Amino acid sequence: MTRIDGKALSNTIKGEIAAEVKRISMSQQRPPHLAAVLVGDDPASAVYVRNKVTSCEKIGFESTLIKKRESTTEEELLEIVRELNEDKDVDGFIVQLPLPKHINEHRITLAIDPNKDVDGFHPTNFGKMAQGLPTFLPATPFGIMTMLDRYNIEIQGKNCVVLGRSNIVGTPISILLSRKAKPGNATVTLCHSRTKNLEEYTRKADVIVIALGIPNYLKADMVKEGVVIIDVGINRIEAPERKSGYKLVGDADFDEVAPKCSFITPVPGGVGPMTVTSLLTNTLQSYKNTFKIQ
Ligand code: NAD
Repeated sequence: MTRIDGKALSNTIKGEIAAEVKRISMSQQRPPHLAAVLVGDDPASAVYVRNKVTSCEKIGFESTLIKKRESTTEEELLEIVRELNEDKDVDGFIVQLPLPKHINEHRITLAIDPNKDVDGFHPTNFGKMAQGLPTFLPATPFGIMTMLDRYNIEIQGKNCVVLGRSNIVGTPISILLSRKAKPGNATVTLCHSRTKNLEEYTRKADVIVIALGIPNYLKADMVKEGVVIIDVGINRIEAPERKSGYKLVGDADFDEVAPKCSFITPVPGGVGPMTVTSLLTNTLQSYKNTFKIQ
């Protein structure tokens, strides 16, 4: 069993980006610049955004964090999005999800300039992804594809089962896995909350990507020997033995399934760090697009 080290791979790729930034930004007036907007006090979102901003600093990007109170109106947030769209010194920006309930996420996503949508959530970028055109791939699925590629995990012709059909993970990863590309060319089944007898699909899967948000859902009797498991879930569960009182676990029951796997991603330290790296890769690409750098 190989444990896929998302943290180490992410550090390697960040090193590559940093070297490229050093090389290309010397000839430009400014380095790449990523902005992040955080609305409200969700503690998990605050951690994710902080990781993104800190990563920027480490690789020579400029970063801006715009923090807004929970009661921010949709109109106020739209105004921030408009300003960032027009700011020539910002290459890409993200609005951290989830947003407070009174704000319509779709309206916000639609308002982001697709050329600065480094999270890859805008329908224009999603459509280009589905058609195999160059675009910003959604950060988490992009991170998963990079992991499969760098670990030389062959998925062509393989039976891949995706659990969960969210717009940010399940649906786009099912498209990327099946695209005529490398990595790609897999036969993909997308399972969700209305799927009947889900274990019948998972037991036949060569590769499982699980993104449900249900702690320790995938058990050993649901998978076959040699399976590859990419665990996207990040769930906080109580852990009184820890100082914080909680710990993070994935959607797969790691201790149970790992002995049957050929490859598996841990939580934490698997897909999560790769999501951040993809965001940085997309921001660098946006910068190169702006300054017409090959
Ligand atoms: P979501 O919460 O929007 O949707 C969950 C999906 O799971 C839905 O499509 C639903 O149909 C399906 N589902 C729910 N219960 C099910 C069941 N019993 N059987 C079958 N399908 C079921 O999903 P999301 O936003 O993709 O998040 C999923 C998990 O991934 C969460 O834990 C989230 O925190 C995590 N996540 C991690 C990263 C990362 O960078 N590692 C990024 C995004 C999301």
